[in-house]
Amino acid sequence: MNALPHLGTAYEKIGADVIARYHRLAGDDVFFLMGNDEHSQNVATAANREGLEPLAYCDSMEPKFREVWRALDISFDDFIRTTQPRHHDAVKEILRRAEASGDLYKGRYEGHYCVGCEAFVPEKDLVEGACPNHRKKPEWISEENWFFRLSKYAEPLRRHYEEHLDFVRPEAFRNELLAVITDGLRDVSVSREGSTWGVPFPLDDRTRVYVWFDALINYLTGVGFAREDDRFAKWWPADVHVIGKDITRFHCLIWPAMLLSAGLPLPRTVNVHGFITVEGGKKLSKSLGTVVDPVVEVAEWGPDPIRYFLLREMAWGRDGDYSQTRVAERYEADLANDLGNLLNRVLNIVEKNFDGILPVPSAPPPDDPLRTSTLAAGAAYARAMEDLDPQGAILAVWEVVARANRYADERQPWKLVKQQDGREAAASVLWHLLEALRHVVLRLSPVMPRKMAEAWRQLGLGEIGPSRLADVSEFAFPGGIRVARGAPLFPRRDKKE
Ligand SMILES: [Zn+2]
Repeated sequence: MNALPHLGTAYEKIGADVIARYHRLAGDDVFFLMGNDEHSQNVATAANREGLEPLAYCDSMEPKFREVWRALDISFDDFIRTTQPRHHDAVKEILRRAEASGDLYKGRYEGHYCVGCEAFVPEKDLVEGACPNHRKKPEWISEENWFFRLSKYAEPLRRHYEEHLDFVRPEAFRNELLAVITDGLRDVSVSREGSTWGVPFPLDDRTRVYVWFDALINYLTGVGFAREDDRFAKWWPADVHVIGKDITRFHCLIWPAMLLSAGLPLPRTVNVHGFITVEGGKKLSKSLGTVVDPVVEVAEWGPDPIRYFLLREMAWGRDGDYSQTRVAERYEADLANDLGNLLNRVLNIVEKNFDGILPVPSAPPPDDPLRTSTLAAGAAYARAMEDLDPQGAILAVWEVVARANRYADERQPWKLVKQQDGREAAASVLWHLLEALRHVVLRLSPVMPRKMAEAWRQLGLGEIGPSRLADVSEFAFPGGIRVARGAPLFPRRDKKE
């Protein structure tokens, strides 16, 4: 939180947002928590550089973060800050429970500490003496600290992994972490001696709670832990945490052990995403000058094309590359052409030839190929979304988009409608296309909420907000609807000089 979010952070929030929006669309009760982790040493350093108290610095950053998330249409329900009193209460309660379980003790800690990671880096992970993530030489730290008995939880964790195949996803990360557990876990330091920025350590007022131990607890705070029992009972355990692949050890080893120690159930799934590289594999890095500002990208393309691109281009859990050329290609091919042009073409013919209102065919054939593939894709889409695979969900919808384009090209309703007795056949073809588009638009709405709300209005269906997935369980475009073609959804962009 010592710098504004870059495209990698934006990708994580977009992924989480699509999961939340999908579940709202499916009719589930959703609570989507986001926030800022404010107790890192980097925050204190950045505040100091600007001549601010750390808390004042955090106060100044919060609205800037919110602004970025608003620009990307991230639909979070609560935004937690770890400096809030509600969070301090939760941290103290977890430490109290850890102590009651006999899981805290005092000892000396020595090791290489990377301030960038806010973590000790094992000797064997150093690359030429430097942190592999930050390419900086860590500090040698030797201090009297409080420890958490992580080692005690190796066996219970291993069992949890064996019994809950979904605990860590995708599977590659699960296997990697299970191997770490099988190797044996070492106790971790949970306090920092002499630090003045952080949650005061309840057992020892000279020290502060180690930032990671504190930050993980936000998931409990956000749903009322230690303050609102009913709310906590309703929302905990969380269904899914969304995290980057660099922090799996904290979320998949230390965090569940903390919960076991506190006698609390574990989240159902920790969903791990990969990293974005730029312009052909370069790491996003301030020092390398390859940071991409999501706000700049949104100003250039709008939020929906960026959301679409990131989720379409990257398989969840794998790394993927961001480049202006690729974004432009996907915008033209997928959005402007395949989807935008199809919608515009269909609405245009319906308006010109049917005054905007299509008759519902008296007996639409149940084996119509567009109907069949639309319904099959709906099932594949839901499976992929439930499986935390947004790319798979988009691909399932695009099967319909591609099928609908072929359907239009094969049946040529624009020609049919001009033939002596082709009007009824044309109406049937157009009705099938409108209905396929209704399915496509609703299913894409978690990915591109603004554009799909506009497409929904153009289809004559009004506000998309109250619609649910159950509304597209049948292939039946309603009668008496007047379509309202508007400006192209994804206007072609002028070729830049
Ligand atoms: Zn580091």
